[in-house]
Amino acid sequence: MTSWSVLRARISSLLTVTGANLSMQGGFQNHAMRKDFPIFPPSPASHPTHLIEQKLGLSQVAVSLPYEAVEGAKAQFCFQNVRDVVRGQGGEIVYGWLVWQHGGIFVEAEHHTVWKKPTGEVVCITPHNPPEKAVTFIPDPSATYDWNADHLTHNVRVALLNDPRLLEFFKVCEEQTEIMNAAPRIGIGFMAAIEKSEAMRHSALEIRKATLMTQIVMALGRNDPCYCGSGKKYKKCHGGTNEY
Ligand SMILES: [Zn+2]
Repeated sequence: MTSWSVLRARISSLLTVTGANLSMQGGFQNHAMRKDFPIFPPSPASHPTHLIEQKLGLSQVAVSLPYEAVEGAKAQFCFQNVRDVVRGQGGEIVYGWLVWQHGGIFVEAEHHTVWKKPTGEVVCITPHNPPEKAVTFIPDPSATYDWNADHLTHNVRVALLNDPRLLEFFKVCEEQTEIMNAAPRIGIGFMAAIEKSEAMRHSALEIRKATLMTQIVMALGRNDPCYCGSGKKYKKCHGGTNEY
């Protein structure tokens, strides 16, 4: 997984230090939002996974991989984790993408790497929060990692709803990644020395994302599939009066 949350935490602390009162919690990785807006690994054979494979130019290569705890492995540091375990225990780095489904709204692939053990078994060793027993992974040998540049790779996103606001939402996500990548790296990377003005811009984009997503959900018709990804009609799921 990318160092995204680490960088976001850094922006949060910067905003706190500067006395800014803008919330960084509008992101859909936010645990509090998961109750209404689940983020989960879609089945490798599901339509959302196929949409992402298609966008990456790959076909039916996604697999479900178990998580295996490895001493010293840290959340968000998949590249370092796998590099270190290969050095210590052998095996190989496998490059590719993690797939996350955001309810019934969109599906997203995140640049990631997993460990092929000397036995040939492939496992994800990077802890997730909240923990996942298994992840959906698309192997992609072309998705290598530039250790020197140490940049975040743009996530790949595909809409599951036909709403143009979702495309704006994706653009805003990319703009945020660009803000992080433009910031100078500190030490081994993974900490960006972000300017206060850029931190504020990033935060404003986070609010824009929350606004767009609220509008997208509000615009759902009662007979549309529910935003939560249950596959039920909105009126029979979260759009109902007492189902939740
Ligand atoms: Zn629902």
